[in-house]
Amino acid sequence: MEQVLNLIGGELRPAIGGGWLDDHEPATGKVYAAIADSDARDVQAAVEAAEAAGVDWRALGREGRSKAMLRLADLIERDLELFAQAESRDNGKPVHLARKVDIPRAIANLRFFATAILHFSTEAHQMDGVAINYTEREPIGVVGCISPWNLPLYLFTWKIAPALAAGNTVVAKPSEVTPMTAGLLSERCIEAGFPPGALNIVHGLGPTVGAAISEHPRISAISFTGGTRTGAEIARVAAPMFKKLSLELGGKNPVLVFADCDFEEMLRTTVLSSFRNQGQICLCGSRILVERSLYERFKSAFVERVKALRVGDPKDPASDLGAVVSGQHLEKVLGHIALAKEEGGTVLCGGERVRLTGDLAGGWYLQPTVIEGLGPACRTNQEEIFGPVVTLQPFDDEAHALQLANDSVYGLASVVWTNDLKRAHRAARALRTGIVWVNCWMVRDLRTPFGGMKQSGVGREGGEEALRFFTEPKNICIRL
Ligand code: NDP
Repeated sequence: MEQVLNLIGGELRPAIGGGWLDDHEPATGKVYAAIADSDARDVQAAVEAAEAAGVDWRALGREGRSKAMLRLADLIERDLELFAQAESRDNGKPVHLARKVDIPRAIANLRFFATAILHFSTEAHQMDGVAINYTEREPIGVVGCISPWNLPLYLFTWKIAPALAAGNTVVAKPSEVTPMTAGLLSERCIEAGFPPGALNIVHGLGPTVGAAISEHPRISAISFTGGTRTGAEIARVAAPMFKKLSLELGGKNPVLVFADCDFEEMLRTTVLSSFRNQGQICLCGSRILVERSLYERFKSAFVERVKALRVGDPKDPASDLGAVVSGQHLEKVLGHIALAKEEGGTVLCGGERVRLTGDLAGGWYLQPTVIEGLGPACRTNQEEIFGPVVTLQPFDDEAHALQLANDSVYGLASVVWTNDLKRAHRAARALRTGIVWVNCWMVRDLRTPFGGMKQSGVGREGGEEALRFFTEPKNICIRL
């Protein structure tokens, strides 16, 4: 059986405690690999390795660090197919999605920050005749990066790349649910001659390894992506230690469909924004709000398209949806569907587990599900489900649409479909989300600020925001 080992000080190591966790294949529900079940001792070893590597990593300078990261990106690109197959097997997502989105984006993350650091500059503030101030941005030291299971290598590299480029050394933890591609990345680090200890990857459970990272007094910043409750726990532990925190958390994203939109394009994209990656993208739109005059037309066309989606073997190019990530998650999503029915919702399509045959009989498959008839205040429209489940709600006018859209404790992303330019601007301004897409979805420029408002997070990632987060500004004032 394959083993997923820690990368500490440039070596692949099992957990100090010698324990292993099961890694499941969602497509079959079977265990297929063993994951190092690390604990605080492994985190301690990783912190020591990261501290020891700090001077050399910084001494490489921006160009040296950039070259090391570009070499790593090249090796992932060389092995793209292997990484895509591994990501699909570990997560349950269709392999064509991993090949097209996850792995190319992981490569792009490394290349983007490897080159962004070469252009990163700081400010100077002149005080006429008195002094000149200039800002230095120093690496923080050892930083922690904790990432979730939905876009495993994509989000893992989204964190480690700016951290490393800025000159920090890193102790990182991928989700124990999907550690495989981080394991492959560890092997490529060694092959690329990546300086030992610059990047350390510790596998294991969140409450053990993740908590040890949050608690460690010599890890001075934490970049976390995951659920809001976990984010609150990390903040509770880290805030009294005055660690820098970047928290990218949950969402309940609204999609606002106005009657004047380009119907066909909206419909095609809304199917994707609802069910891509089995609805397990923090940016998926889960509350679809439709102008009343368009509601019936939208409903019948949308449900017809959703019924035509194929749930199947992640390896099959014809599968639109693969398996959800775990048996536990499948139960959680089914629980939300049952709750929606209890709340008075009508399931327009889906709602059931899909049983495939043969090897896939034990896999965790779920029909894409569309629900209507629920008001904005019910739990189904308030709580994050993070699976292939969306609700439909009609609205009367723009003010009503915005009121429904903003009626959430979350504020990550929103989508507006309209051909009225003035309305698009008004809505974009009024929406309380960190990202607003107008007539598109998941169009990402890595230079833009990325993150959520309200309970969707604290801080922003992307471009200079990330490089700023991973550096400490220091003002130097020189008397003229
Ligand atoms: P979790 O919060 O359960 O886990 C995220 C990471 O934190 C995992 O690596 C997990 O480890 C770890 N972790 C768990 N408990 C602790 C702890 N006490 N201390 C430190 N680390 C811990 O989220 P999921 O993995 O379930 O991911 C889904 C969530 O992520 C959704 O809410 C989704 O909205 C959010 N998300 C947000 C994004 C954004 O950009 N805003 C993007 C993508 C997802 P382990 O899994 O090994 O237990």
